[in-house]
Formats: sequence, structure tokens, C-alpha cells
Amino acid sequence: MDIYEAIQRKQDSRFAAIKAAEEKSEKLRAEIPELFDIDNALQSVSMKIMNAALTDKAHLEARLEEIKSENDRLLLKRAALLEQHGYPVDYDSPKFACPLCADTGYIGLHFCECVKKELNTDLYTSSGLGKALLDKTFENFSLKYYSGKGDGGLSDRENMTIIYNCCKRYAQRFTPSSESILMIGGTGLGKTHLSAAIAKVVLEKGYYVIYDSAQSIFDDYESVRFGKESKDIIKKYENCDLLIVDDLGAECMTQYTVAVFSALLNWRIVNSKPTIISTNLTPQQIKKNYGERVYSRLLGESLIMKFTGQDVRLQKLSEKKSDT
Ligand SMILES: [Zn+2]
Repeated sequence: MDIYEAIQRKQDSRFAAIKAAEEKSEKLRAEIPELFDIDNALQSVSMKIMNAALTDKAHLEARLEEIKSENDRLLLKRAALLEQHGYPVDYDSPKFACPLCADTGYIGLHFCECVKKELNTDLYTSSGLGKALLDKTFENFSLKYYSGKGDGGLSDRENMTIIYNCCKRYAQRFTPSSESILMIGGTGLGKTHLSAAIAKVVLEKGYYVIYDSAQSIFDDYESVRFGKESKDIIKKYENCDLLIVDDLGAECMTQYTVAVFSALLNWRIVNSKPTIISTNLTPQQIKKNYGERVYSRLLGESLIMKFTGQDVRLQKLSEKKSDT
């Protein structure tokens, strides 16, 4: 859903609220005939205001004051009548889902919070960023779990600090022609956490992000191949601004998945669309499993981040155990 669909949806809900209120008013007028005159008079108040503004400019303020007190008097009389008949005073006023913008979607010239919120939750769900991933942010990524000596001259902490900063900058400066990223390293070193954090920031900037495991992407291609699904479900993998493939190498690999992955990757590279891939495989294993072509595409065209350290999930688990 894009912002215009979100606004349209708001305004549909506004229209429905107004229509429901009008139906209630009609019901009230059928039951309480005195309301006819009051409602007519109330309606003519707005006409009077317009007339005053057009014709009686000299005494505009005094005239408006007069009209306003007439309006208040009518509203009070109406409220009293409703109460007499056992209805709450706001019985037939429109019930908008968002009291801030009365379901117009706008506050002044800006989008109301409710539109942004709807857009976000909808984008999160349709992007594949489920609940489990939504709480993985840059703010709650902890570097304290990286305390090993590391390799290549950098300690784990130093290496991961560089990677962390790099990911954060990437997310903040993302454009649809940003670089691709290849995240390599063992299980539990934060690849999923940081790629989910990137996804969240890029989504919030309004880009179209798809986050999925390699397995689930291949499952979709299989479903299309066997006619179980229409081609539409795989279009998003090609068209999205940022594709994030989590855990490449954990999937059940066949000649078909290799061909699909190779074609998808190639398509995105040729069209300069960034892809973030995380994998536990070593570069040698990528070459062995996916072949020379994917290997050279992946390593040659991406920013390579080598995650180092000790499995953070295991460390957190043993922390919890010693707490209790
Ligand atoms: Zn609103």
C-alpha cells in the first residue's frame, strides 16, 4: 500500500462515518419531530456565516458573534431534546477512527500520524518483517558481546563496530541505487539483527523493501513453477527497492534453486537494484554450491562484511541462566 492508498482508505472511512451519522440523524428526526426545525436552523447558520462574510463586512465581527450564540442556543436545545428521549448528546455525530484529523488523513498540509502509522504497520507486514524482526534495531544492537581477538589484525569489537557503523550509514543514506551487501560469518553473530535494522530504517524512509529467508523465496518460485501461485508473488523480489535475503545456504538446494537465485541476482545487478544477502557459508562454499558465476557476481559486486565473534545468542542464553 502506498501513501495515496492509505489516504484513500482514510477518506473512505470518513465518508462511512458521516453516512452512518446521517442515518442516525434521520432516525432521530423521525422519532423527535421537533428536531426538524432545529436541524434546518442549524444548517442555515452556515449559510448566514457565508452571507455575513460577503455582504456585511462592516459589522462582520458583531454579526458573527450573534450567529455563533444562535448556533450555541440551537445546539443546547438539540442536546436537551436528545437527552429527554434517552439518547447520548453525541448519538448522531460522526464517529471518526482518528479524532486528530477526523479521518481526512491530513493535519494542515501534513499527513496525520494515523496515516503514517497505518502505512508503517502495513509495510512491515507486507515487507516480510514480522514481529520477531521488528524489535531488531540499531539502538538495541549491543557490541558488548564481541570480545574475541578477531582475525586480520582487528579485534572482534573493532571489526563489528566498523560493520555496525557501516550498516547504519548505509540505511540512513539508502537510495534505490545503493550498493549491494554480502554479510558472511557464522550463526548468531548479528547478521539478521543488522539486516533487519537496515530494513526498518529504509522502510521508514518510504522505500519498498522485501525481507525474506532464502528458503521462503525459493518456495515462492517453486509454487509459481508448479502453477500453485500466479507470477505476481515473485514480481516483488525483482521490483522492490531493496531485497534482503536472509540465511542463504540454509535452504534445500536443488539445481532449480541455484538457477532461480542466479537469475534473480543477475536481474537485480543488471538493473542496479541493491540486494543484501546474509549467509553462514564461506566464500568457498558459495562457489561450490552456487557456482562460479554467482560467486563472482556476489563477491565482485557487493560490499562484503565479515562478521566475527562468538555466537551472541548462546552468550545471551547463558546470561539468562546465570540470572536465575
Ligand atoms: Zn489522523
